[in-house]
Amino acid sequence: MSVDEPAFILDGRLALDLTWTLRYRAVAPTELLVGPPDLARWVTAAVAPVTETVSDGLLAEAVRLREAIHDAARAVVDGRRVRPVDRAVINDHAARPAPYLELSPSGAATVRLRPGAEVESALAAVALDAVDLLSADDGRLRACEGPACALLFHDSSRPGRRRWCSAQRCGNRVNLAAHRRRRAEHTEG
Ligand SMILES: [Zn+2]
Repeated sequence: MSVDEPAFILDGRLALDLTWTLRYRAVAPTELLVGPPDLARWVTAAVAPVTETVSDGLLAEAVRLREAIHDAARAVVDGRRVRPVDRAVINDHAARPAPYLELSPSGAATVRLRPGAEVESALAAVALDAVDLLSADDGRLRACEGPACALLFHDSSRPGRRRWCSAQRCGNRVNLAAHRRRRAEHTEG
């Protein structure tokens, strides 16, 4: 990866990781999937290595799936019903052939994308994760409380009290701001 290519954030939930490819949604939306090679890079980082060429049409499909997942997850976070149009996009992708697992010589399981439909199969895996996430009804799908962040995350921690997309990114910023406020009050008083 060269320096001018922004790093993707991967947090272990494919569906949400895809929504994070549009950064700073709330303040200054920044598209990370600008061209087909960006989608190939994301799938390689998040699912498994891509060897096939990605078309513009496939990129458009991935972005459409991403926005459907984002809007559906936002609805669940806000306690609203998922819109039929978003459900349709997610279900359409979830019905396609997904990646499969292969037993490697070392005894480990390796994820393999479907030959001839590598990225399509990766998107199917993303959509299946979205169905799992959106149907969980576990109260652990949340929006980050970081200032102007708005990233959606799933809290898989045991205590289940996570408030930020990432403690490093938003948790620290909030704590630092509180620390500065306390210090300022101290100095003034
Ligand atoms: Zn955040």
